[in-house]
Amino acid sequence: MNSLLHRGRLAGFGIVLALALLPLLPVNEFWITQMNFVGIATLVVLGLVLLTGVAGLTSFGQAAFVGIGAYATGYLCVVLHLSPWLGLLAGLAVTVLFAAALGLLTLNLSGHFLPLGTIAWGVSLYFVFGNTEALGKYDGLVGLPPISLGSIALDSGRSFYYFLWAVVLLSAFALSNLLDSRTGRALRALKDGTAMPEAMGINTFRYKLIAFLVAALLASLAGWLQAHYQRTVDPSVSSLRASIGYLFMAVIGGVSLIGGAFAGAATTQILDDRLQVWLPRLTGSEGHYEVIVFGILLVLLLQRASQGLFGMLGAWAAPQARAVQPIALHRGERIPSAGPLLRVRGLSKRFAGLLAVDGVDFDVQAGEIVGLIGPNGAGKSTTFNLITGVLPPSAGSVTFNGQPVTGWSARAIAHAGLARSFQHVRMVPEMSVLENVALGAHRRGGAGVLAAVLGLDRKEESGLLSEAAAQLARVGLAGQMHEPAGNLSLGSQRLLEIARALCTNPTLLLLDEPAAGLRHAEKLALAEVLRELRAQGIAILLVEHDMDLVMNVTNRIVVMEFGRLLLTGTPREVQASPAVRAAYLGTEIEGVS
Ligand code: ADP
Ligand code: MG
Repeated sequence: MNSLLHRGRLAGFGIVLALALLPLLPVNEFWITQMNFVGIATLVVLGLVLLTGVAGLTSFGQAAFVGIGAYATGYLCVVLHLSPWLGLLAGLAVTVLFAAALGLLTLNLSGHFLPLGTIAWGVSLYFVFGNTEALGKYDGLVGLPPISLGSIALDSGRSFYYFLWAVVLLSAFALSNLLDSRTGRALRALKDGTAMPEAMGINTFRYKLIAFLVAALLASLAGWLQAHYQRTVDPSVSSLRASIGYLFMAVIGGVSLIGGAFAGAATTQILDDRLQVWLPRLTGSEGHYEVIVFGILLVLLLQRASQGLFGMLGAWAAPQARAVQPIALHRGERIPSAGPLLRVRGLSKRFAGLLAVDGVDFDVQAGEIVGLIGPNGAGKSTTFNLITGVLPPSAGSVTFNGQPVTGWSARAIAHAGLARSFQHVRMVPEMSVLENVALGAHRRGGAGVLAAVLGLDRKEESGLLSEAAAQLARVGLAGQMHEPAGNLSLGSQRLLEIARALCTNPTLLLLDEPAAGLRHAEKLALAEVLRELRAQGIAILLVEHDMDLVMNVTNRIVVMEFGRLLLTGTPREVQASPAVRAAYLGTEIEGVS
């Protein structure tokens, strides 16, 4: 691990040194220009790494924000004769307003509607710029001043180069800090739907909006730089072609890797230029053949290396595991109320014509394990979803710790101290086991984007990670905390889910078929963990098919059939009940004999 860290730092240092020396070498001005365009594009692509690669939101409209940044400063400098720095502020401000409005309208669109929406606003902004008199219509604005730092005007390719690359490297550093934080984990958890992060108490819409705003701001910053570098702005900055170009760079380089933004922008920019020179010579005719080459390259990469060029570097590009300092996390006191911890009364759910859950009543007392069993289709999962706030009930009530929580969102219920696992494991496979589990501790921290970017969240971050490490130790997974979660066996993945749920500091754990698909030894380990948790005072509601497990670990069992409560009793009473035998008739039940 140390030699890896060493190599990674060495590589980073080498890149910075090469970038710093390039303009001092007797290289042709042409290459300085090329590298300046690479730097500007890298900024936009860094935003796409966050938005598309990390958060899983595809945008075909990033060039629109480049256009906003470029036109804002163009208008202020050329028409109002103000300073480029005011132009930058205006551009960023307009970008925030525009992106927030667009985000609120489009980020909850599902499936392909978001990419379509991004195309729509991208195209319309292009025509707005092209048809606005004050912005010079399709000719755009000319005669922008260079950016000045005090008395130094960045009016040469080389002076601009230094400023630009300082901005790009700082942005990449800030983004890397952001990804390696509480906010970053929440962003990375967005890719596979919202159910899991919401169940951990994470407001997923808020994080989608954050990814969208940060990506838009990076694009707007790129627009400002480009406008003052080229000294002109025209509508082509925000064309759909430009947007697709940025997305292309992200995919070629490695869409979920920060290094991929650099690799993608550099490869595309330089290859594009070279191909435009070489291909006409090869084919003997003019024509945009480079498009074909890029298309083939894209297909090859997607087939052979979906992590792009930078991903091919493998271990060189691998993120570093940071040592976890043990810092105890503040444990919000959960004040137990008198009476049962969970009280379910008359709970019902109607799906169209089907009454899936029909007037179910039961309690879970503090510190006991209650099994919820019944034949397939009995309504167990639906009951589970009604209690955890995934579905609103049609009738009835759920009271948790003396508080009525009927109809609360999954997020609010998680925050109240009721944590859950998923029947089909939900996790971020590329993220380490430790980071996955730390998602559960999200609401126990408060550091935001700015603290993360500036590295001011380190103490809190240590607290969250050491809480995750402690919960992993509790379920017996401490030895694997730095592995990618996707490498774990199914049994260990289910334990990961339990550790993650424990990080929310719950008093009641709801587990949906935690033993499904486990090997015998894994089931025994799971049973042991459940008993230990009970001994430590955590109540568990266990929806489970495996009768051996249910009979062995539960204090009481609730049996459902056709949506209704069939029987509540101890494992012994349930085993002896003729009604339960009848309900299960034809479906072999192990353990009932
Ligand atoms: P169990 O988990 O006990 O196997 P479920 O709660 O999944 O049972 O399902 C109970 C009944 O409700 C089944 O008949 C199922 O087909 C139906 N059902 C579950 N979810 C939905 C839904 N979203 N829409 C319509 N019917 C559903
Ligand atoms: Mg089910």
